[in-house]
Amino acid sequence: MEGGCRCRAVRYRVSGDFVHVALCHCSDCRGHAGAPAVAWAAVKGDQLEVDGKLTTYASSEHGRRQFCPACGTGLFYINEANLPGLVDIQAGTFDDPEAASPGVHIQTAERLGYMTRLADLPAFERYPG
Ligand SMILES: [Zn+2]
Ligand SMILES: [Zn+2]
Repeated sequence: MEGGCRCRAVRYRVSGDFVHVALCHCSDCRGHAGAPAVAWAAVKGDQLEVDGKLTTYASSEHGRRQFCPACGTGLFYINEANLPGLVDIQAGTFDDPEAASPGVHIQTAERLGYMTRLADLPAFERYPG
């Protein structure tokens, strides 16, 4: 599977199966992404090959978040204390994001209240006009 940042300055390839795919509700993910939750596909470090320059940001004591310095897209999360040997890939950055469908919610203690009511919201298929 392949993916990359919005501006395509960073591209990556994954070989083999995901270790897990999770939708994370933690405040650290939300703060970094500016989004109400982030989907992550975890792989072993040697399954991932990256082309392009990344910027690394320490978002917690052990958490390292990597993003494209040109367009700002968040791409990877590494935490050798909690997830040794793994790289989490922001699953919305795959060319085919449906192929990395979350199988579990994590960090729901920090979940925004409205995230449990999403199916009840009025829905508009496209912006009008
Ligand atoms: Zn970019
Ligand atoms: Zn998180």
